[in-house]
Amino acid sequence: MIERVLSFPDALAEVLRHARTLPAPLERERIGLRDADGRLLAEPIYADRDQPPFDRSTRDGYAVRAAELSAGTALHIIGSLRAGELWSGPAISSGEALEIMTGAPVPEGADCVAMLEHVLRNGDNLSAQPARTWKPGENIVPRGAEAHAGDVVLPSGRTVGPAEVAVAATSGCATLEVYARPRVAIIATGDELVGIAQQPEPWQIRNSNSWSLASLVSAAGGSPERLAIARDELDDLRERIAQGSMWDLLVLSGGVSMGKHDLVEQVLTECGAEFFFTGAWIQPGKPVVFGRLPKSGIVYHPSRAREFENWQGEWTYFFGLPGNPVSTEVCFHLFVAPLLRALGGRADLAPAFVEARLAEDVKGAGARTRFLPAQLTSAWDGVTVKLVPWQGSGDVAASARAGCFCVLPPSSEALRAGDTVRVLLR
Ligand code: AMP
Ligand code: MG
Repeated sequence: MIERVLSFPDALAEVLRHARTLPAPLERERIGLRDADGRLLAEPIYADRDQPPFDRSTRDGYAVRAAELSAGTALHIIGSLRAGELWSGPAISSGEALEIMTGAPVPEGADCVAMLEHVLRNGDNLSAQPARTWKPGENIVPRGAEAHAGDVVLPSGRTVGPAEVAVAATSGCATLEVYARPRVAIIATGDELVGIAQQPEPWQIRNSNSWSLASLVSAAGGSPERLAIARDELDDLRERIAQGSMWDLLVLSGGVSMGKHDLVEQVLTECGAEFFFTGAWIQPGKPVVFGRLPKSGIVYHPSRAREFENWQGEWTYFFGLPGNPVSTEVCFHLFVAPLLRALGGRADLAPAFVEARLAEDVKGAGARTRFLPAQLTSAWDGVTVKLVPWQGSGDVAASARAGCFCVLPPSSEALRAGDTVRVLLR
């Protein structure tokens, strides 16, 4: 294995380069509209009829001829029409007005809707308030102005959220064809780890990463599977990694640092892994590794080493993330999520950054891009970001008090309150 530690932009570019070569997912499924949040459409949605399906009044008022009412003509009110009704009388003729409610179909003969507040009614007579005029088309959305029957109203590849649900429901789609979620194997490694239902001994740590990673995987559109904890021993890691190689993506936590029990890279190498990078100049998260390994399911043993050489079969991408929980999360947002989104068929791959102004001075820290837990505050005059005090990358409590990560560029120079910085959104 060759060491390859990249700057943050280069490491992200490397992930995106691989992500962009991935084909659309093969598997699809049909699901109910209520279950579609966050899923990716595998087919376009078409308007099944004109939208709106009739000339729709957007106000409560009177359907009239704009020129007549504007000219001050007194109009005779011939009836009233509410949403859900169709005007069954003859077309509105000269000198007439029809009382009409929001959402009702504007009848033939009228060319605008005058708002209730802008006219004067006296019995069945209607006249304009002084100095009011109307233009044809006012307060009417013409039939088909939003979409014509047969138009694509949602393209394939769109992520379903509240707005898409509204469009699908308007188009009569009770079910949607979506891409299957990529299946992601999660392996936590570490001799100190115990399951969260267990009472840890004083020297043990609960395995929180398998859970936080499952949550992150779901949020990025994947289907997580938490495999058993792997001990910091070759045989256990070999077995677990062989198992994990059969998923669409393998995410490991822990065991990628320089310690003598950090064996993850060694075992990946044995299993024929190719490494695209073995570290990134970031803090936290420097030991992160990215690569791919043969999708073999074979448990490595020295006698089977040749089976991994010159691999011609399928490959599985993997990430080895540092075990400190905040490093794990940061590396997930920066590198795992973009690749996972691509596996799921999404086009919006890169992590989400926004800009904000620093609330306080921050010391420079040198060669790495830093991603520090922080809070964003939006105000009328702009968005500011403030670091959350923390004890380093094991401090999940501080991380949970933060809503984002403030990005500080690699520099030994201090930043000043008011300087603009990037912010990584969760
Ligand atoms: P490592 O990356 O294996 O050197 O672990 C770095 C630190 O993260 C150690 O303090 C570990 O105890 C902690 N850690 C590793 N894996 C997990 C995990 N799955 N859940 C919570 N903490 C972990
Ligand atoms: Mg460890």
